[in-house]
Amino acid sequence: KPSPRIDYAALLNEEQLRAVEAGEGPVLVIAGAGSGKTRTLTFRVARLLERGVPPEGILLLTFTNKAAREMTRRVEELAGSFADVRRILGGTFHHAAHVLLRQHAGALGFSTNFTVLDREDARDLMVTCIAERKLKSDKRFPRPELVLDLVSMATNLQQPVSQVLVDRRPQFLPLAPEVLATAARYQQRKAQMHLMDFDDLLLHLKRLLTQHDDIRAQLAERFRCVLVDEYQDTNRLQGDLVDLLAGERKDLTVVGDDCQSIYSFRGADFTNIIGFPERYPGCAVFTLTRNYRSTPEILGLANASISRNARQFPKELTAARPSGAMPVVVPTRDADEQAAFVAQRILELRDEGMSLEAMAVLYRAHSHSLELQLELARRGIPFRVRSGVRFFEQSHIKDVLAYLKLVNNAGDELAFKRVVRRVPGVGPATTEHLWTSLRALPEGTPLADALAHEDVRAHLPRKAQKGFQRFSDLMARLTRPEGARTPGVLVEEVLAGGYAEYLKAEYAAEEQREEDIRQLAQFAGRFEDLARFLTEIALVSEFAAEEALGADAPDEYLTLSTVHQAKGLEWRAVFVLWLADGRFPLSLATRSDAEEEEERRLFYVALTRAKDELALVYPLTVQPREGERILLRVSRFIEELPSGEDAPYDRLVLATVAAAPGEAGGQPTRAVPPLGPDGPLPSGLESED
Ligand code: ATP
Ligand code: MG
Repeated sequence: KPSPRIDYAALLNEEQLRAVEAGEGPVLVIAGAGSGKTRTLTFRVARLLERGVPPEGILLLTFTNKAAREMTRRVEELAGSFADVRRILGGTFHHAAHVLLRQHAGALGFSTNFTVLDREDARDLMVTCIAERKLKSDKRFPRPELVLDLVSMATNLQQPVSQVLVDRRPQFLPLAPEVLATAARYQQRKAQMHLMDFDDLLLHLKRLLTQHDDIRAQLAERFRCVLVDEYQDTNRLQGDLVDLLAGERKDLTVVGDDCQSIYSFRGADFTNIIGFPERYPGCAVFTLTRNYRSTPEILGLANASISRNARQFPKELTAARPSGAMPVVVPTRDADEQAAFVAQRILELRDEGMSLEAMAVLYRAHSHSLELQLELARRGIPFRVRSGVRFFEQSHIKDVLAYLKLVNNAGDELAFKRVVRRVPGVGPATTEHLWTSLRALPEGTPLADALAHEDVRAHLPRKAQKGFQRFSDLMARLTRPEGARTPGVLVEEVLAGGYAEYLKAEYAAEEQREEDIRQLAQFAGRFEDLARFLTEIALVSEFAAEEALGADAPDEYLTLSTVHQAKGLEWRAVFVLWLADGRFPLSLATRSDAEEEEERRLFYVALTRAKDELALVYPLTVQPREGERILLRVSRFIEELPSGEDAPYDRLVLATVAAAPGEAGGQPTRAVPPLGPDGPLPSGLESED
């Protein structure tokens, strides 16, 4: 037997080595954050190749495709000299299913060049299905997103749609027959047109494996080894797929941490990992107990927090690294000071030689990064928001800003077209007609008059008339000259003047968007002047546009991310924002013990991303509207930790906070400092989504 070419013992500890060397599966590695689960899995892949498993015989399932790429790059370093690592099939469940269906969809009656619907397409198809019900328009009928969500949950939980309706959306039970018929129609239409949405990729792979013994045998022959990272966040359907793919041979390795299961809202079920030993009797179970990522101080805080969760697999975790800096808890006066503190500290760390790439700012919801994004743009600190959409680029935020732009400048074509499309019954053709007839009016006609003009109204289809009236009433109120309206008030009026209803109709039980807009109103409330406010926001977008164009793009970025998106990753310095009760944990997510425990797991994930420095920051007050201040409480996740001598953190008291007199009270609105040269609105940076 040739001696191993990789010096495993030098690169792994004993526990990890045992897991890497374990014979054919099933193998379960269940261990805390930063204990080397992903590393162990990577080395196990290398070891399998070394043992002679052909690379195309390995299936590596990960939480993101990027994670799979990083793991295979590492395997390439280890085993590239003797194996063609590129032939490993690695990526998300969706990716793997897609690849396999391209080869085998024929057996299911699909052509192998079937089309995959993206979310936009899926929504369009659902809109058609709802329209085809040939019923009089029924306002109470759930919107397309909601029906899609029901279908998706049903698929992922492997339950009938009716069950999901009962469990998750009981308010629509009176319409159950209709909703179920629409869901069924959606499924039929997809099948007729040979289309698959994302969930179908998984569902059809399961059908392929359960209904076609020959193909199952063929795939079982091919995938000699199946490995899964982040197994705690698999849902029922994914769990079933893993079991089916592992087949009779059961050479399966799964790794995960039940304390990091944070996707139950998408159907993830950590009983998959907890129940693994029962489903695979005789499996080898390894627990890794040394944490290599974080200092003992950071780990101490994380352990103290997660120990308060009742439901968990018992684990121990001790730090392998030497002692470092104590984590800090930092109360700040308000969201602006919170942003300023973080930006300042980031610049200090950079001066001390830490690269921006080694730092991250994490938060519970995208809207929590708003003030920080502006502050970073102002200071010229390059940043990247993980998972794409920046706060100001989200569709609903752009909608609301478009109303404000139109108030600011009645000639803003993009803004006009964007808002008028939100009027029920107005389509693209009507929008064009409306705009042309508006332009034909004498210059300087006030917007309110223009919208009321009969030449303009002549273009409205009957079904749009009521909505348009509402819209023009709203615009009349917003542009009324008497009693100048501040940006904050304008945002609130847009929300109250129909946009909130539009959101409810469009996104049903989704509360986050409305919450985002309230945040925007709060933020806008600090500006006196509409044009100044819009300029500030345009500057953030300009910053984004530069980045997107790649024009002298900096090669170092700070990362901004929700905690959900940060799973599995690590940085030297981590800042967690908005650690105030109601924000983190999010108030919507603490209605039951189970939800609170999931939020605490999320907090645990956030803490354990940090290697050297950890700062937990929160604002003491928010200003929902002018002259009003609300005091916030520190997050229960911090409050519940030992305090005094035993506190696993230091409190950092900023001079401003120490000097503040008793916090509450109507302090005057703080002006946002000028941005330097007061130029006109940068042009050409508007991008439609
Ligand atoms: P998470 O639960 O967050 O996904 P994990 O258990 O997958 O974490 P890894 O990301 O594999 O942990 O490892 C955490 C860090 O510790 C990585 O930087 C990794 O390289 C390092 N590490 C793990 N094991 C060892 C070891 N034996 N020697 C040196 N460094 C190690
Ligand atoms: Mg990992």
